[in-house]
Amino acid sequence: LAGARDLVDDLVGDRAAEWDRIGLIPDDVLRTLSARGLLCAGVPEASGGLGASSAANGEFTAFVGSRCSSLRSVMTSQGMAAWTIQRLGSAQQHAEYLPKLAGGQLAAVAFSEPEAGSDLSAMTTTIERDDNTVIVRGQKVWTTAAHYADMIVVVGRYGSGAAAVVVPASAPGVTVTRVAQPSGCRAAGHANVTLDAVRLPATAVLGGGQPLMLLVTTALAYGRISVAWGCVGILRACLDAARGHARTRTQFGKRLADHQLVARHLATLLTSEQIATRVCEHASRCWDDGSPEMVVATVLAKQVSAVQAAQGAATAVQVLGSAAAHEGHVVERAYRDAKLMELIEGSTEICQLILADHAVSMPA
Ligand code: FAD
Repeated sequence: LAGARDLVDDLVGDRAAEWDRIGLIPDDVLRTLSARGLLCAGVPEASGGLGASSAANGEFTAFVGSRCSSLRSVMTSQGMAAWTIQRLGSAQQHAEYLPKLAGGQLAAVAFSEPEAGSDLSAMTTTIERDDNTVIVRGQKVWTTAAHYADMIVVVGRYGSGAAAVVVPASAPGVTVTRVAQPSGCRAAGHANVTLDAVRLPATAVLGGGQPLMLLVTTALAYGRISVAWGCVGILRACLDAARGHARTRTQFGKRLADHQLVARHLATLLTSEQIATRVCEHASRCWDDGSPEMVVATVLAKQVSAVQAAQGAATAVQVLGSAAAHEGHVVERAYRDAKLMELIEGSTEICQLILADHAVSMPA
């Protein structure tokens, strides 16, 4: 990932607040990062990607997250699409799709439906086989990056099990409608996707016939670790802003940092950043070692980092006071963005339920 941070700094600069305000990231920014393979840096070199380790990709994800959570969200979607194709696709499908994702195209992943949010087992989208084609019918909601995407990986029911299917956004029957004024990550291109009898070649189907929740868990694993690292980035941005302000602003004749109650906020923020970093490093180590702990470590990283980011961003707002009470201030954006991280890729409660199941089933 040499040079990747400099490229992100060049492309993002101080424009994240403006992108948030207008609800759009310029297409050339996304295409440039995609063409360099940086939106899904874990794609193996054999498939045209950068072959980054989870640890390296995670640190890069945190860096992007510290600059712009909307861009990091697009990156999470692209990485999750690539991971789903890697895990569920055949060698032929890898050759068909992965070089595109590491070569300039953009992707989104659609699970959620109006009546299937936390409970994805309530999903009703169908992928129906018809000779050598499939027909996709359903309604997906809140699909991050769908506004920008060339292809949308749609999860649905397939026979008695489930499958994912790669749907070109331009296919007849696909309608992508932006979610109006999301409260955070406003430039991440969230959209609702209607699939009205979309007919595709059967070769677009990935992993047909698996149990639905197994397939969902596989795909979500990448989303979770990516969001977790993104939350580390939010915490780093908040810590930087809070300590910079506390060092320079004087009240009651001394720096804010020298008031013990403010100093405690800084200690809390540093602690949050360190806790989130350590759980993410542990999860990435599990990914890189192929450890059986990987799934649980990833849920833990997501749950801990999202909670720490939401609390940390609120703490940073407190330290900055009115200085952060402007729409678009880095800490104000972090406050809105971080809260959403507690809702997605398995909300805090859903992650807690998974962790509780794990705790109960652990040997004494
Ligand atoms: P609900 O499921 O209605 O839950 C509401 C509340 O109840 C939550 O706090 C939840 O934790 C709690 N709850 C629900 N069930 C339980 C339970 N059994 N026990 C305890 N508490 C429970 N979806 C995609 O498919 N692709 C995307 O790219 C995507 N991106 C998103 C980006 C953003 C910014 C947002 C806000 C959403 C996105 N989503 C995406 C949808 C997201 O995955 C869902 O919002 C999420 O799964 C929660 O579903 P819900 O909003 O319907 O809430």
